[in-house]
Amino acid sequence: TSLVNLEKVSFQYKNDLQVLNNINFKIEQEEFVSILGPSGCGKSTLLNLIAGFIPYYTGSIKIEDKQVKMPSEDRGFVFQDLALFPWLSVYKNVEFGLKMQGDSKTSRDQKVRGMVELVGLTKYLDYPISSLSGGMKQRVALARTLVTEPNILLLDEPFSALDAQTRDVLQEELFSLHNNLNMTTILVTHSIDEAVFLSDTIVLLSKNGQVKDIIDIELESPRD
Ligand code: ADP
Ligand code: ADP
Repeated sequence: TSLVNLEKVSFQYKNDLQVLNNINFKIEQEEFVSILGPSGCGKSTLLNLIAGFIPYYTGSIKIEDKQVKMPSEDRGFVFQDLALFPWLSVYKNVEFGLKMQGDSKTSRDQKVRGMVELVGLTKYLDYPISSLSGGMKQRVALARTLVTEPNILLLDEPFSALDAQTRDVLQEELFSLHNNLNMTTILVTHSIDEAVFLSDTIVLLSKNGQVKDIIDIELESPRD
């Protein structure tokens, strides 16, 4: 069976219109899936459901055959606003999740340095977040999530606040990170270019919160 299974998922916010309508799709281990669609179609809501942030919905969302009801360490989420601690250093920010997990000091140190190296910020280990550029903050947010080694990486429009040039660089970096770490990744985006560049599969949502199409990118344009 697939890693993630959505069946007949529908959702509406309290006292509000229907946001998601009968969503069905599957995600395989190591797949990179983009959820693409116009603003307001329910992309973030769908990602939040998969993350377990919203416990009430109809239909079924299963990860490894277990019903999603709450957040869990198997899913790492990078928020649109990054949610970093601005006055703390890169090191402290990346270390945070490991402390929550109860890793030892030695293990934390090794993992933090390794991951910060991987995102190319070793020189900035002791810099406060507030002193970094947007692209660097984005790398820290990614590192902080990846360092906890989630099975599934969930990204909500991670590049939307960046200028076009930085966005291109970060997209390349995410592409190679995904290839190196082979981590199942779900990206929410409203950029067709971004989705086509990064994804194995695109789940295209229509304005009324239905799956309009599921597009297999691999078959159409082999990359390597
Ligand atoms: P997208 O990510 O595709 O832009 P969202 O999932 O953010 O779409 O939002 C889908 C719809 O749900 C929009 O109409 C939005 O205004 C509404 N919405 C989003 N969050 C909430 C909320 N917390 N309460 C009520 N309505 C919401
Ligand atoms: P996105 O950029 O992902 O579409 P938005 O900018 O629409 O998100 O929403 C930003 C925040 O406001 C989110 O936390 C969302 O849950 C909340 N929100 C969006 N629309 C509504 C709404 N109609 N009622 C209440 N909260 C909302």
